[in-house]
Amino acid sequence: MKKIVIIGCGFGGLTLAKRLSKQKVEILLIDKNNYHTFQPLLYQVATGGLEAENIAYPVRKIFRNHKNVIFRMSEVFSVNEETNTLTTNIGEITYDYLVIATGTTNNFFNFEKVKDKILPLKTLIGAFNIRSFFMQNLERSLLAKNAEDQAEIINVAVIGGGPAGIEVAGAIAEMKKYVLPLDFPELDLSTMNIVLFEASDRLLAVMSDPASKHAYKYLKNMGITIKLSTPVKDYDGKHLILDDGSTFKTDTVIWTAGVKPVKLSGLKETHYHPGNRLKVDEFNRLSESKTIFAIGDVAAYVSPEHPKGLPMLAPVAIQQAKLLANNFKLMWAGKELVPFTYKNKGVMATIGRKRAVVDFPKWKFHGLFAWFIWMFIHIMSLIGFRNRVVTLINWSLSYFNYDKPLGIIIPLFKRND
Ligand SMILES: Cc1cc2nc3c(=O)[nH]c(=O)nc-3n(C[C@H](O)[C@H](O)[C@H](O)COP(=O)(O)OP(=O)(O)OC[C@H]3O[C@@H](n4cnc5c(N)ncnc54)[C@H](O)[C@@H]3O)c2cc1C
Repeated sequence: MKKIVIIGCGFGGLTLAKRLSKQKVEILLIDKNNYHTFQPLLYQVATGGLEAENIAYPVRKIFRNHKNVIFRMSEVFSVNEETNTLTTNIGEITYDYLVIATGTTNNFFNFEKVKDKILPLKTLIGAFNIRSFFMQNLERSLLAKNAEDQAEIINVAVIGGGPAGIEVAGAIAEMKKYVLPLDFPELDLSTMNIVLFEASDRLLAVMSDPASKHAYKYLKNMGITIKLSTPVKDYDGKHLILDDGSTFKTDTVIWTAGVKPVKLSGLKETHYHPGNRLKVDEFNRLSESKTIFAIGDVAAYVSPEHPKGLPMLAPVAIQQAKLLANNFKLMWAGKELVPFTYKNKGVMATIGRKRAVVDFPKWKFHGLFAWFIWMFIHIMSLIGFRNRVVTLINWSLSYFNYDKPLGIIIPLFKRND
């Protein structure tokens, strides 16, 4: 049997393995974590709306009944294209076909040197960190010597005005209004400022103008200060320093401002597109390679319409995985491969517990109905019937009682200062 090694159990890798799991091939699925993360709902874990288990699912459980799919929890370091071998932290692994679906990692830009002082929203651990750090600071703020110190401890800066940034900012604003007054009656929450910093001149750059304007209005109405055209320059653990030299005092800096592709060593530099995504052809094959493929965020399928590659979105990874699974079957049957065409399914973002903005290719809308559509699509996309039911119950309850169920502190966060 041919051996296909898939690196990454994200949206792309998981879909591909599922689609090939009934074929007569050996599939080795590798991920450094033993679970798949539903990244669009990380902000819910970060703000106490959902449990980690609702949005992360163990890979072994998914493939229980598929004997030809083997999972290894392992980190891949490099690829040797000459010998078809991977170097990993559990030894060397060989492949007949390799599919790279490693997604992205945080890009801290000029904040690289202070990355241990800020809170990225990219992984499950990151989401836990945000929740625990935020709750810990609320407890700590009660001991502050004066109002100024207290404000610094409970102020929140969110960096990045994309979907993740506005979603986390909106959820924190709702906590401030509805949950914290109940749980911290002795705290003066009027001193707490939630500020959203965005370097460009609009929110939701990946969405339409109306979506951007509505998101702005919703966030403003929730009491969030929005700073557009405001690049952040530095952070010393207490002061966020802006490009114009002014500062914002805060202990909590949530980073949603950028990601970069995961880069494995050993691959020829000619495989990379500027920006470090792997250049792929219409069959998701790396240029000059018959055995290595890339899908999802890590892959750059460049076309005149998308000169930088397709957007980094879950539907792109899923569509590429489905097509690649089909093309593997065609390849083994000696038939002609089918080229990839991207079907834009739209983009959406939610602001708080009752509002969303939705851009479908032919229909753009916002408000409560948009939020119902957002909720339905996200619930149906979760893995596992139990997770869908628990999430629906959680969201339905918080819709009516405005409460968030989760506020326990699990100290994971390490600060170097
Ligand atoms: C906070 C946030 C919110 C988002 N919201 C949305 C949204 O609303 N809608 C939307 O469409 N998209 C959203 N996205 C983007 C979406 O999550 C990605 O486009 C999608 O996950 C890409 O799928 P992928 O399979 O390429 O990679 P991923 O899903 O990122 O999976 C990559 C996998 O590879 C593993 N891996 C990486 N390196 C290695 C290694 N060296 N060895 C072993 N394993 C490795 C990782 O552990 C991970 O499991 C969001 C992303 C974030 C961070």
